[in-house]
Amino acid sequence: MGGEARPRFLCAGSSFESARVVLLGCPFDGTVSYRRGARLGPDAMREASDCLETYSPGLDKDLSDAALCDMGDVDFFSGDTEAVLASIRAEASAIFQAGKRPVFLGGEHLVSLPAVQAVLGVFPGLAVFQWDAHADLRDDYLGEKLSHACAVRRILELDGVGPLRQFGVRSGTREEFAWMRANDTMRPLTPEAVAAALKEAGERAVYLTIDMDVVNPGEMPGTGSPEPGGPGFDALIECIRVLDASGARVVGADVVELAPEWDPTGASAVAAAKVVRELALAMGA
Ligand code: MN
Ligand code: MN
Repeated sequence: MGGEARPRFLCAGSSFESARVVLLGCPFDGTVSYRRGARLGPDAMREASDCLETYSPGLDKDLSDAALCDMGDVDFFSGDTEAVLASIRAEASAIFQAGKRPVFLGGEHLVSLPAVQAVLGVFPGLAVFQWDAHADLRDDYLGEKLSHACAVRRILELDGVGPLRQFGVRSGTREEFAWMRANDTMRPLTPEAVAAALKEAGERAVYLTIDMDVVNPGEMPGTGSPEPGGPGFDALIECIRVLDASGARVVGADVVELAPEWDPTGASAVAAAKVVRELALAMGA
């Protein structure tokens, strides 16, 4: 929504009206616990997208055939977390109410909270799929309830939220793991597990939140809380291919926790941009 000079994602030149999938940047990292920089994620993904092709060989689809709109970033002052979340929620609601499918560009993981609040207004009961190295189920983090370490806990407290499935989680407190085991939410990040979870979700719509730290930090060092172990980047892309093959089930998504300054090679930003390209295509752009 800014002037001519601002970067935009790849060939995302469609108007809001003509687009099916829209990108909205949420450059917020106000609650990050360890090392910051996720606020730089949206523009880093846009700039890195310059080195990607518009064609996805995995999906055999081309973004240049697609109607994709890059709406720019949500405007806010990051000093007041509740006000930031309200601004994101308002813009997200307008997108869902217009029948569009957003991919939110984070930003830290807390930006998923207003996104899911907004989507529940249109798709009550929808399932939430979380791809993340961390459980994000703490009730508070150092006394703060609005923290990226509590993002999924806050989402679970929303009225009307459907089942949660957590893929690739390998870090959390004893209490978080006890809760995940008791509620059977944990899955490996594999194509088979994603396909099974889609089947299990039945007719429900799905919201997908991808915390980029789910990928092994050897391939994805540019994130605030790198967690050793985990799947490689190709495994994540294979899982998006399963979503594409499932048809029009993912009605909203986000790609969060890219902190580009922690990867001076720039490869982490390209990885996140590639995830956005694949997601946009899989969501019907
Ligand atoms: Mn997370
Ligand atoms: Mn994480």
